[in-house]
Amino acid sequence: MTSPRLKLSPWLVLFASLAVTWLAWDHERDTAQEQLRRQFDFALRDTASRIEQRVMTYEQMLRGVQGMFSIVGISEREMLESYVAALQPDANFSGIQAIGIVENVAADRLGEHLGAMRRLGFVDYEIQPDGQREAYAPIVQREPNIGVNRSRLGFDTWSDPVRREAMEKARDSGLPVISGKVQLSVDSGAGAPPGFIMYMPVFGKGLPRQNVAQRRASLAGWVFVSFRVKDVMASLYGELPQGLAFTIYDGVALADRDVLYKSPEDAGAAAAFASNEYLVVGGHTWTLAAKMRKSFEGGAGRHTASVVAVAGVGLGLLLSSLVWLMATGRARALQLAQSMTRDLRAAKEAAEDAQRSLAAQAHNLAQSNADLEQFAYVASHDLRTPLRNIVSYAQLLERRYKGHLGADANDFIDFIVENSKKMTLLISDLLEYSRVSRQAAPLEAVSVARVVHLAMGNLRPDLEGSGAEIRIGALPDVRAVETYLVSLFQNLIGNAVKYRSQERPLQIAIAAERISPDLWQFSLADNGIGIEPAYHDKIFEIFQRLDPAGDAEGTGIGLTLCRRIVHRFGGTIWVESEPGRGSTFCFTLRDASFDD
Ligand code: ADP
Repeated sequence: MTSPRLKLSPWLVLFASLAVTWLAWDHERDTAQEQLRRQFDFALRDTASRIEQRVMTYEQMLRGVQGMFSIVGISEREMLESYVAALQPDANFSGIQAIGIVENVAADRLGEHLGAMRRLGFVDYEIQPDGQREAYAPIVQREPNIGVNRSRLGFDTWSDPVRREAMEKARDSGLPVISGKVQLSVDSGAGAPPGFIMYMPVFGKGLPRQNVAQRRASLAGWVFVSFRVKDVMASLYGELPQGLAFTIYDGVALADRDVLYKSPEDAGAAAAFASNEYLVVGGHTWTLAAKMRKSFEGGAGRHTASVVAVAGVGLGLLLSSLVWLMATGRARALQLAQSMTRDLRAAKEAAEDAQRSLAAQAHNLAQSNADLEQFAYVASHDLRTPLRNIVSYAQLLERRYKGHLGADANDFIDFIVENSKKMTLLISDLLEYSRVSRQAAPLEAVSVARVVHLAMGNLRPDLEGSGAEIRIGALPDVRAVETYLVSLFQNLIGNAVKYRSQERPLQIAIAAERISPDLWQFSLADNGIGIEPAYHDKIFEIFQRLDPAGDAEGTGIGLTLCRRIVHRFGGTIWVESEPGRGSTFCFTLRDASFDD
């Protein structure tokens, strides 16, 4: 049975690993956001600083132009032409639309100015817009003199308040100043792109310019650089960070009419972050309003949080599957062990049952064996007396009437006498056999030499009749019952005599050999007719006789009795024999010193 704790453990592991993953993912996401924010802020400041630097470069260039005109005078048109040609503005100052000169023309000098310009070849030169004003500031030169820059000269920049404000500031400060959002004079129409102009005052050669009043009095005109904002930004484009959408506003009001530039990426951008940066360029403030786009995030390569989430969830699933496998594996092993234990217990019970029934059978067998032996004993014992009477009377009959009752009667009487003797022999053998089984005589030290002597004494007439030569080795004392041991040797020696060969004189050898400290092996060898190997076991069974010649008397009980006697003394008995070469009966007995 799987415990509920084991069943729950995969879910607990999954829950714990998901919780840890969530914490790690949340932390990583916060860190990523913070890092992204820092990168965004950096990118914004970087963009602003690049724009500032670019405008400062324009300032430097304009200072050069200003310095040049301070020396040569504003009327030296060729100087500017050569200067700009040398600058190669396309290459080095990209984003510049034109570098030019605006002359400061007081109302009383207007006629002189117009004449001078027309003499230079600008025959239809006019001040635009026309009208009477106390001062004019017409554009008198634009370089490089190509493309739209060739448009008519004479636009009075003083007439435009936005330009005029910057020009005044430049005049009064002597520094470069940028105008607000304007439409360049070379561009016309409502859709013209926003631009701005940077002005620097040019003072008359050698005139004082220490203070505002002196600067106003000495003013000869302005040098300017005009820009379309989109061209400036386009020239910067490769240097700006990817994924940043921004709008440049003139001033800080962030009104639509003040938009100088909108980066193309601004359209529909999903902004994760947005921020404004203020730029002060040429004494003028711009606002850079930037938003971060999705592509910025991609460019910054912040995927760690997703990696953490995917890896965490994957690992969690893997880990919980492993725990599940282990938990169920344990449960499966437990189940197997339990079923094996059940099987084992069943097998053990079955074995115990079998053992019990075997013991019961053995007990029954022993009981019926005892009953049988009891029966055999009683039967043979009780048969003895009537049999003795039969034998006595048959012998009486033989003595008195043999030869008087005819030939048949003689045979019948012989037959009765002979069978009565056989029966007497059988009954006495049976009785002895039963006695060995029934009597629990105690074992004691018995001299085998004495036993052999007694047995040979009992067999003396047979031994003498057979002319047997008997060799007896050294024989030990053993644990036995003397009368049974006499019976054992008597049977074995008697068989050697009975089954002797007619072809040679009988030789019997009796010997003993110690085969272990407690055990002796006895052998009784004859040179008689021998026994077929197939019958080596059979002859020890009751009533089993071979007697091929058929002339030996016997009951088939002798060897059975021998086996029973040897078994009673804790030994074993067997025969080694070949037909025609004699037999050796061997048996083991315990040494007299053995104490069980
Ligand atoms: P039996 O009364 O016939 O002698 P045993 O049980 O003593 O009965 O012997 C069984 C049989 O074993 C005998 O009939 C005989 O054929 C064989 N046998 C016993 N002892 C010998 C022996 N020494 N040599 C040859 N055969 C023997």
